[in-house]
Amino acid sequence: ASGGGLVAYADSAGENASSEPSQEAPRKKKVVVLGTGWAGTSFLKDLDCSKYEVKVISPRNYFAFTPLLPSVTCGTVEARSIVEPIRKMLDKKRKDVAFYEAECFKIDASKKAVHCRSAVGTNFDGNGDFMVDYDYLVVALGATVNTFNTPGVMENCYFLKEVEDAQKIRRNVIDCFEKASLPNISEEEKRKILHFVIIGGGPTGVEFAAEMHDFLVEDLVKLYPAIQDFVKITIIQSGEHILNMFDQRIATFAEMKFQRDGIEVNTGFRVVKVSDDLITMKSKSLGEVSVPYGMAVWSAGIGTRPVIMDFMQQIGQTNRRVLATNEWLRVHECDNIYAIGDCASITQRKIMDDISTVFKMADKDNSGTLTLKEINDVLEDICIRYPQVELYMKSMHMLDIRDLIKDAIGDSHKESMVVNIEEFKKALSHVDSQVKSIPATAQVAAQQGHYLAECFNKMDQCKEHPEGPLRMTGTGSGRHNFRPFRYKHLGQFAPLGGEQAAAELPGDWVSMGHSTQWLWYSVYASKQVSWRTRMLVVSDWTRRFIFGRDSSR
Ligand code: FAD
Ligand code: MG
Ligand code: MG
Ligand code: MG
Ligand code: MG
Repeated sequence: ASGGGLVAYADSAGENASSEPSQEAPRKKKVVVLGTGWAGTSFLKDLDCSKYEVKVISPRNYFAFTPLLPSVTCGTVEARSIVEPIRKMLDKKRKDVAFYEAECFKIDASKKAVHCRSAVGTNFDGNGDFMVDYDYLVVALGATVNTFNTPGVMENCYFLKEVEDAQKIRRNVIDCFEKASLPNISEEEKRKILHFVIIGGGPTGVEFAAEMHDFLVEDLVKLYPAIQDFVKITIIQSGEHILNMFDQRIATFAEMKFQRDGIEVNTGFRVVKVSDDLITMKSKSLGEVSVPYGMAVWSAGIGTRPVIMDFMQQIGQTNRRVLATNEWLRVHECDNIYAIGDCASITQRKIMDDISTVFKMADKDNSGTLTLKEINDVLEDICIRYPQVELYMKSMHMLDIRDLIKDAIGDSHKESMVVNIEEFKKALSHVDSQVKSIPATAQVAAQQGHYLAECFNKMDQCKEHPEGPLRMTGTGSGRHNFRPFRYKHLGQFAPLGGEQAAAELPGDWVSMGHSTQWLWYSVYASKQVSWRTRMLVVSDWTRRFIFGRDSSR
């Protein structure tokens, strides 16, 4: 099949059919996984590959541990230490998983196939395009950078999304220092070359700024003593505070630390244009300001990959940034396509949309009213299907459902707490305000990959739909099937440089300072995907402690 036209068909079904008698067990279903980032690899790690014919497609034949990318920019950790070859990861447990190093450029849901282009472009016909068909597709393509169409950003800024980006930044930082050290360079010119600007005050931008600052004070001042006074690091942030997804205490701590370090934080500024030597930004109070710069790193938000954009057009999900899935991570309107990680988001069903059904389900005796017992019997199921109910009660400091109902019917009924549909509606009317979207993080991507793998492993038990018939609650028959995906937030870190970090852990626990940095070291060492990368990362840290960073290109 590979001889023909522009598109070769990568399909082994034919082989299977001829080598096995046809009355044998039905052929294994084909699962195609797009992407080998956090979501894709976590899915593959937990999938029982003996049950499926698995094919993995990604233009990069490795997994990259993105949280350590900022450390790669200044040589604190080497790029090689944070990547794991995908074939090695696949080889660990199983043999019959195929990997194709290629980019998927079109998902064709009607033909149940994906169109791919080889990264190296070798095929008999030259262009390396091929097609892979699937029974189930797992889309884990991640996101790309988002410039918000700001003029000059693509041409003049550096990004920090891929391993190559971090390596490019590292080379350019050194370039700037060497350039500023050349003879016959005016002071003003030196100041310009050594002005490092970071656009975006989120965790990535902040961590990069902290890394730069450490590199500067710990290593570069010794190596470039003549120009150290000309160096400046600036963060430009459109919001009022940096790290605004963190607790306010952390944001304040970070801002104060940066102030002491001499890192300038310009909040309330939006970058409107970047030319080859000027960054133009705008603020409400100060209007437009332009500053000369030597190197700019853009880390302000994530955007949609073209292939996802095209697919969303096909299935009518227009005007969206990411694929919409149901709570079982299946793409809406697509029977066999799942999407996990940064390229997808879950639309949580609103309880008010299903309120009559929920009421009927709870009203076991068909009396047209619900007793407290009737409600309590289905409450657990309701909370599984609509997590916002629990969140709402928690946010209102309500201990049980009785408080919620009391609000709706007033205190008068106290003992005989019976509600009709109108009162039931009223009781739950504000609950949907607690529907929360989950963030685009590695933690979410990994949990979704794990969850989806479990669903796939038990798919024969839930023949009809992989997510199982737990569509509506309270029927009892859905009990042993799959609960919807529920994100469990385990906390987040913000390394701030100078051996200090901030952490926000579950239960409103905030910790900052040197001990938190040690917690960070141990958590990030333990999270490495293999003993090999763990060894490498830890030895990089140790080497940096003893010898400092390597400042050669
Ligand atoms: P990715 O991990 O980006 O994986 C996408 C995969 O798809 C890649 O393998 C890519 O090669 C592949 N791909 C791309 N295009 C195609 C195509 N056309 N066809 C086939 N394959 C394709 N999150 C945290 O929780 N904690 C952190 O500390 C943290 N730090 C971060 C630091 C940096 C610098 C960055 C950039 C991100 C950080 N994140 C962090 C976010 C985290 O990396 C993402 O949320 C996570 O990678 C999302 O996983 P994913 O699998 O959806 O996408
Ligand atoms: Mg992925
Ligand atoms: Mg990744
Ligand atoms: Mg997501
Ligand atoms: Mg009743």
